[in-house]
Amino acid sequence: MTLPARSRYVVVGAGMHGLSTAYHLAKELRRRGLGSGADIVVLEKSSPGSGASGIACGVVRNNYFQPAMSELMQACVEVWESDPAAYAYNAVGYMALGAPVQEPDLTATYERQERIGYASQLIVGERAVDEHMKALFPDWRAKGVTVCLHEHQGGFAFNIDSVLGLVGKCESEGVSILSGIEVTELQFGSDGAVEALGTSEGRIEVGEQLVIAPGPWAKRFWGMLGLPMTIDIRTPGGDIVEDRPMWTYWNLQEGEIGVDPATFAKADGGAPPVIHLDTDAPLYTDDGALVTDELWGIYYKRDRHGVQGGASPLTVGDEVEIDPYPQTTNVDPNFADMWCAGLSHAMSRFEGCRALYKDARSGGVGAFTADNFPVFDYLKPNVYAILDSNHGYKMIGVGREVAKVLLGEHSSLLYPFRFERFEAGDLHPVSHSPYPWS
Ligand SMILES: Cc1cc2nc3c(=O)[nH]c(=O)nc-3n(C[C@H](O)[C@H](O)[C@H](O)COP(=O)(O)OP(=O)(O)OC[C@H]3O[C@@H](n4cnc5c(N)ncnc54)[C@H](O)[C@@H]3O)c2cc1C
Repeated sequence: MTLPARSRYVVVGAGMHGLSTAYHLAKELRRRGLGSGADIVVLEKSSPGSGASGIACGVVRNNYFQPAMSELMQACVEVWESDPAAYAYNAVGYMALGAPVQEPDLTATYERQERIGYASQLIVGERAVDEHMKALFPDWRAKGVTVCLHEHQGGFAFNIDSVLGLVGKCESEGVSILSGIEVTELQFGSDGAVEALGTSEGRIEVGEQLVIAPGPWAKRFWGMLGLPMTIDIRTPGGDIVEDRPMWTYWNLQEGEIGVDPATFAKADGGAPPVIHLDTDAPLYTDDGALVTDELWGIYYKRDRHGVQGGASPLTVGDEVEIDPYPQTTNVDPNFADMWCAGLSHAMSRFEGCRALYKDARSGGVGAFTADNFPVFDYLKPNVYAILDSNHGYKMIGVGREVAKVLLGEHSSLLYPFRFERFEAGDLHPVSHSPYPWS
């Protein structure tokens, strides 16, 4: 399909956010009698899912210490649950298991989930957690775990399949998704609004609004918008932290073991929840070599070809060449040893799994904001940005909220993620998790 000369709404990026926005906007336009999907064009430089959405582990969870994240995630899970087949969503649940240092955070998260009606269960105490886990997985043997948040909602989805599910929904609403068109320039009018985009295939005028959802390419668009690469942040106490890089990159280390997926099942034969384990118990390889005696963590889920998951990401700095994606720089050479040792520490069924570790297409770089939380906001009068700070495969519902905002409504779920929070000191609370995304 060729590039039209003009479109009322232009969306850049065919990942989860761009596609979910286009789909929900098309539906809203139709429902309100204000237009249809034919008013929307999605521009994608490669193909749908070729960015972070197509490499994501696919974990869908609500476990966030930050109230705004948790409430937004509840709305996202609602969207996942609305059409599990199209979204390739596996509602298997999610478990966060932690060391004593994480008890207060997970307890607070559980209490909020109770308040907002998100189905979960909290188990506290080493013995109680061990019993809970052994009832599900008789070979559970992790040490030093004193708290477990068992979310009965959430789970995971198959990354590319859910992107294609959204593509199908967009197309059924008449949205055009144009692959192989790279946006190279934003052309501004005198009022600061974007009038047109320069692309690899020519120029397209923006009739009303532009939505940018560029995933890890956020910094590039930040530059095109003429926004500052460093910002001052007001802390909640009122102090100013000067010159913080707006964008930094982390490499998400993920891998896979090639086992029969059926070997990772619950005692009753059912599909296992996604498991995230943090503990300060010493970690050894199956050969008895000490990996670490500090707090460590892994996450893992049953996949189509085995068991997939990861560990803490590594920082990469604020200058990274992203293409070709998935870019994987700064990978710990001991990652596979550590992750497999972690699996074996958790469940005896994984003893010896290091030999089954596969060099699969897994892991990649994510772009994080100055406080590691998303920016969802108008950055120019007609430019709405969905910059999710790498939180957001699971955030399939953000597009539904953005669609409402584009049509003039306020979204209380997105408001806490406005860019002005940095200046206002209205930041999100920080948890004790070693991960930049909890
Ligand atoms: C290894 C890894 C594992 C992850 N695991 C999880 C997880 O388990 N759960 C979770 O919730 N999140 C996870 N994430 C984060 C999640 O993948 C991202 O936050 C989310 O997919 C971002 O979606 P997006 O639509 O913003 O970006 P993307 O999916 O990256 O889509 C952006 C699109 O924009 C296109 N684009 C970029 N520049 C241009 C341009 N100039 N012109 C035209 N098109 C352009 C790209 O080609 C791309 O297709 C993970 C991330 C990584 C890297």
